[in-house]
Amino acid sequence: MKLSTFGTKFTTHSGILSLMDDLGNALATEDEMIMMGGGNPAHIPEVEEVFRTRLRRILDSQNEFTRLVGTYDPPQGEKEFIHEVAAFLKRQFGWQLSARNIALTNGSQAGFFMLFNMFAGDFNDGTHKRIQLPIAPEYIGYTDAGLSENFFIASRPDIDYTAPHQFKYRVNFANLTIDDSTGALCASRPTNPSGNVLTDEEVSQLDTLARTHDIPLIIDGAYGTPFPNLIYTDAQPQWNSHTILCLTLSKLGLPAARTGIVIANEEVIKALTGINAIMNLAPNSFGSLVALDMVRDDSIVDISKSLIRPYYKDKADFAVQCLYRHMDDSLPWQVHKPEGAMFLWLWLKDLPISSLELYERLKQRRVLVVSGHYFFPGIDEWRHKHECIRMTFTRDNTTVEQGIAIIAEEVRKAYAE
Ligand code: PLP
Repeated sequence: MKLSTFGTKFTTHSGILSLMDDLGNALATEDEMIMMGGGNPAHIPEVEEVFRTRLRRILDSQNEFTRLVGTYDPPQGEKEFIHEVAAFLKRQFGWQLSARNIALTNGSQAGFFMLFNMFAGDFNDGTHKRIQLPIAPEYIGYTDAGLSENFFIASRPDIDYTAPHQFKYRVNFANLTIDDSTGALCASRPTNPSGNVLTDEEVSQLDTLARTHDIPLIIDGAYGTPFPNLIYTDAQPQWNSHTILCLTLSKLGLPAARTGIVIANEEVIKALTGINAIMNLAPNSFGSLVALDMVRDDSIVDISKSLIRPYYKDKADFAVQCLYRHMDDSLPWQVHKPEGAMFLWLWLKDLPISSLELYERLKQRRVLVVSGHYFFPGIDEWRHKHECIRMTFTRDNTTVEQGIAIIAEEVRKAYAE
């Protein structure tokens, strides 16, 4: 088979493919693997019941059933849902926007693919621009999303020590150089993998930089406000005509619905709509219809605040307690302050083996985590890249504690080598 440059790039080994494969295979074998690797949202029974009730109502209505399965939406996405999302965001935050500021994508992953390649890569004037990540570690799903090479540039963060065995990444603005080769800034907030939440002050500073350089600031709110609100610290969402805010229904509990929501200025939405038409004809209608009522009556905020956020917050607290219980105080382990999302990010300073080797050893012990080195797109050499692992804490408490006990044993052995 002879492949084009595109075909070659997108079929060669990619971090996200090996991760998803690994997770899928581990789940398929089901032989006592302790799964602390994936980003699948938990199945919260009360939340699932809300979806189930809504689906029953859709099935009982001929009109809604036809909209669910038998109608192409416009390339911008389901009209009524978009209208309601605009009204919802206005009510919640007072943002001055209309339906012309919103487009839907088949999952936010597809949204990032389109946005990144709109703002970075090769330009008609012969220049090449990159997506700049103000902090790495950053979401593994960005890494291979560029149509050309040399697509990301990232800055090492500052590290603050916030409590015994805890740290927090901060944007190092002194090292954040933006020039003509920067196409857009992008950060996930909360951050996958670290659970960091950029402070309001950091976001304001990034916003100022974006405006000064007339480039977009893309904020990935997959875990953020207003839904699913997996934020355990104080953080306000911000939006203006330079911001592109990407939300998704996935972490609310609807990853199979593949519904991403992009909120941006009209020019960006128009461009995205055009790309959507070419790539997909229309986005999926399923998520829009399931979430429609929840957005219309604001109950999506209540569900997030009263059911989803507390569920994950309890899990985060429990997982951190397990770390303190099982890891040796004398070892230089550090966990990122869990400020959001569904992961703990463990930093094993000066670990004698690489994080990939630790991942392999843990896999032998039937514990699946993710090696941290995948999460540093745009950063070449830095020992820290090979000293971290990401652990998902969404499983039941007994399993999480078993997993962490085994991780602690393997870490202890590795430091003793
Ligand atoms: N952004 C972040 C930070 C994520 O963790 C994920 C999924 O794990 C996504 C985006 C993509 O989500 P989806 O394509 O399901 O909307």
